[in-house]
Amino acid sequence: MKNRSLLMIPGPIEFDPAVLSALGAPTTSHLAPEFIEAFGQALDRMREIFLCEQGQPFVLAGSGTLAMDCAGANLVEPGDKVLVINTAYFSQRLAALLERYGADVTQVNAPVGGRPALEEVDAALQREAYKLVTITHVDTSTAVMADVPGIAALARQAGALVIVDGVCSMAGEDLRMDEWGIDVALTASQKAIGVPPGLALLVAGPRAIEAFQRRKSPVLNYYADWTHWLPVMQAYADRRPSYFGTPSVNLIFALNVSLGQILAEGLKRRFTRHQLLSVMCQAGIAALGLGQVPLQAEFAAHTLTAPRYPAGVDGGAFLTRVALAGVVLAGGLHPAIKAEYFRIGHMGAHTPGDVLATIGAVEMALAGCGYGFESGAGVGAAQAALI
Ligand code: PMP
Repeated sequence: MKNRSLLMIPGPIEFDPAVLSALGAPTTSHLAPEFIEAFGQALDRMREIFLCEQGQPFVLAGSGTLAMDCAGANLVEPGDKVLVINTAYFSQRLAALLERYGADVTQVNAPVGGRPALEEVDAALQREAYKLVTITHVDTSTAVMADVPGIAALARQAGALVIVDGVCSMAGEDLRMDEWGIDVALTASQKAIGVPPGLALLVAGPRAIEAFQRRKSPVLNYYADWTHWLPVMQAYADRRPSYFGTPSVNLIFALNVSLGQILAEGLKRRFTRHQLLSVMCQAGIAALGLGQVPLQAEFAAHTLTAPRYPAGVDGGAFLTRVALAGVVLAGGLHPAIKAEYFRIGHMGAHTPGDVLATIGAVEMALAGCGYGFESGAGVGAAQAALI
């Protein structure tokens, strides 16, 4: 029996063998010519993948929360007004984080599984002037996808900088910094970027860098301060060594491999592939009679699916049975509905076959939990969506 399960959670995901082998190679100095070239190339590739031609990429050792910290620490000065488009758990994390740096935060809220209407965002922007507007592209706690281009256009008209948390979307969902007017997009390595956890990634557009340079007060986070990192990132982009804090050498070699694979696949094809995986998964879930957390189909993300348990099925027992069938899924995360739903991640290297195997395991677990349905209906519907 093979000693592994199929990992279908919304991060960390399963990783390509070439990425893992870069991670396992002997570690070089961070000043070695081959590392300087790999880091420089990874920074160039980030601009291409974030679709931000003049963007300034940052790669720091840390998780997605550090990338959020990096945006907050460098762009917020005490008293700055920030509008947080709150689509769930990770939007709230961003609000709390920005308040820590002294931001005066206003939130536009939505019910669980919903997202604020553009009219509500517009009304909030008309009531007050904001320095920043933040959007969680895909809130991983609910699988709700925000209307990034719609909100960003309104925010730009109102003169605000736009920050997008793309941790659960970048390189999986269509996300275009230049075209949509996004000033900062951030993510982490372990989701659709396709590299084991440990890298915080962020691209800042020219307006964000200008806002940082106009700061009157010091950045309130020593490690994340762009004053330290800008010269380092610029040096590696110019293929020169530099130092502030030791870079994650192996993770950056692995990042460069994965970013190369993403570009080789092509962004358009990659987004379409993620849409297909999502259509398959959602069709399979619907055919089994399960509802989903997003209140409308057009709010549903393509990087993960959040099905609701049918009445009478216990989440703990269900997930244990899925694991016995060889598939690892995630439980609920949003505190208000935590026990009512589960999450299936389908991003990065995942294939249609992985989705079919997952729906098959979901069927086995549901049957084991005593839920009645037509056996094979989910797999059949997922397969039909593929053809
Ligand atoms: N934002 C979103 C949308 C996320 O999904 C996550 C992680 N699940 C984070 C932020 C935080 O990232 P990390 O766990 O890597 O700190």
